Amino acid sequence: MINIEETVNRLRETNDLDDEALLYLIQNDECNSILFKHADSVRREIYGDKVYIRGLIELTNYCKNNCLYCGIRRDNKSVGRYRLSKEQVLLCCEQGYELGFRTFVMQGGEDPYFSDDVLCDIISDIKNKYPDCAVTLSLGERSRESYKLLFKAGADRYLLRHETADKAHYEKLHPNDMSFDNRIKCLYDLKETGFQVGAGFMVGSPFQTYENIIADLRFLQKLKPHMVGIGPFISHCQTPFAGYKNGDTFVTLRLLSIIRLMLPNVLLPSTTALSTIHPDGRILGLKAGANVVMPNLSPKNFRSLYSLYDGKAAFGAESAQELEKLKEIVSKAGYSVCVDRGDVKK
Ligand code: SF4
Repeated sequence: MINIEETVNRLRETNDLDDEALLYLIQNDECNSILFKHADSVRREIYGDKVYIRGLIELTNYCKNNCLYCGIRRDNKSVGRYRLSKEQVLLCCEQGYELGFRTFVMQGGEDPYFSDDVLCDIISDIKNKYPDCAVTLSLGERSRESYKLLFKAGADRYLLRHETADKAHYEKLHPNDMSFDNRIKCLYDLKETGFQVGAGFMVGSPFQTYENIIADLRFLQKLKPHMVGIGPFISHCQTPFAGYKNGDTFVTLRLLSIIRLMLPNVLLPSTTALSTIHPDGRILGLKAGANVVMPNLSPKNFRSLYSLYDGKAAFGAESAQELEKLKEIVSKAGYSVCVDRGDVKK
């Protein structure tokens, strides 16, 4: 039996713990209140009560890959496919800018249509029109050369979840034509290029052990990303993992707190997956140390097609157009929505 307060304090002061203590904090519900209290206090020391908002634009649901957990994987023939035109993206930005968004996140599957030329053209148009805004990309694995071109065109940040830092586990979640080593290489290439980089993983994915989660935390300590996206695994009915058990809300929340205490300055989203799996997920995430939310700015008629997992929340307070609702919920929880770029604090 460990002393929870003393252990969490040690994590807060040294940003580190041995594996055994970490395992205890991850696994035990009785750690919740102490972990959440310290994580919230650290985020307030660095970021105050601010919650940064990012307007999420789901660029394309075409993907050449076949990740076993993903609803828009190549082999899912039941999903209607779409890709947004530059004009549609710019319209999303226009609406988002008027609402107060100063970061646009373009997320999509690995769609070969979006060549470097096509993407650079979109990015430079956004940056020319909205020079006070940050552009974040989440478009998967590309070559180092491609990352350089996207950065040169004006993109500021890049999110690429590593999904799991254990190679054997990675190979259980991905088909043979995907490479763990390349995924990790991409993250280092992105850092070297100059992007603010986000990594992250699923909590409770099939075959994941608690030791795998420790490996994820160690990897984050080594990579030192500017952003970390974690969310519970949620199964999708048209994937090989249909019917697999979903990840646990409170394990995810404890991990958010642990990540805040390990990497105090990190930008940490309270993810859509968290609010999909629990009605108060967004707010619980903020109270556990998260400080970013990414409401959906995509054209409403396409949102249901971007179905990474079953039941994905994309309306109500998850919708950029309902920002007032989000502001109200966030302020009731003791935080305030902030409409600047929200870069990482060094
Ligand atoms: S997780 Fe990403 S790369 Fe994998 S199939 Fe889905 S969209 Fe494609």
